[in-house]
Amino acid sequence: MAIIDAVKRIRERIEEACIRSGRNCAEIQLMGVSKFQDIGKIEKAWQAGIRLFGESRVQEAVEKFIPFKQQHPETELHLIGSLQRNKAKVAVSLFEGIQSVDREALITELGTWTKQRDKPLGILLEFHTGEETKSGFPDEEHLYRATEKVLSYPGLLLRGLMTMAPYTDDEVQIRAAFRSLVSVRDKLASRFPSCDWSCLSMGMSQDFEIAIEEGSTLIRIGTALFGEQDL
Ligand SMILES: *Cc1c(COP(=O)(O)O)cnc(C)c1O
Repeated sequence: MAIIDAVKRIRERIEEACIRSGRNCAEIQLMGVSKFQDIGKIEKAWQAGIRLFGESRVQEAVEKFIPFKQQHPETELHLIGSLQRNKAKVAVSLFEGIQSVDREALITELGTWTKQRDKPLGILLEFHTGEETKSGFPDEEHLYRATEKVLSYPGLLLRGLMTMAPYTDDEVQIRAAFRSLVSVRDKLASRFPSCDWSCLSMGMSQDFEIAIEEGSTLIRIGTALFGEQDL
């Protein structure tokens, strides 16, 4: 399927999921996950209206998006894969947001490097909801401490939470993972009411409709948009 048709189809599916769950589709941001995709495909996604892109590796993102952003300054780029501390400085200079913030040491590192930025770096705290990789904070106590740490750095702007549902066909399990993200967000919002918890990044190609039904505000779509990755 051509990328422009894929985007159209995804937008229709977003709309249908919104109608089913009584939501307004203006609340849902569509991210194009462009890892392993070349610049030609990213350009096509841009032409189809995608403005938010997600990459999972810093080096790959540097190579593709430094030139891409010069051509398209309105691009918003987020890191969605695990970040090593020694790449934090580069990450801070390239990304508008980091969605995969999963440990306190990383917050310290990002907070330190963002002192040189003029705009704060958007932060989503990643919550572990049962996906095989161990990334993400394990419980709300860890998230409370992480929140306090983010708040101590003026260059970091907390925007909400991110999760990856378990990789399974079991809809019940997937739905439960998304519900647990909403429930932990509610706890954080009552503990830190002046913070912005509006962004819930959940849902990928296989499960974004369930995620929307459960309250997602940002879906991260790779395969359904770009096709299978040719590695
Ligand atoms: C690769 C990736 C996605 C996109 O996955 P698809 O199933 O291809 O849509 C979303 N989120 C994260 C964190 C990823 O690594």
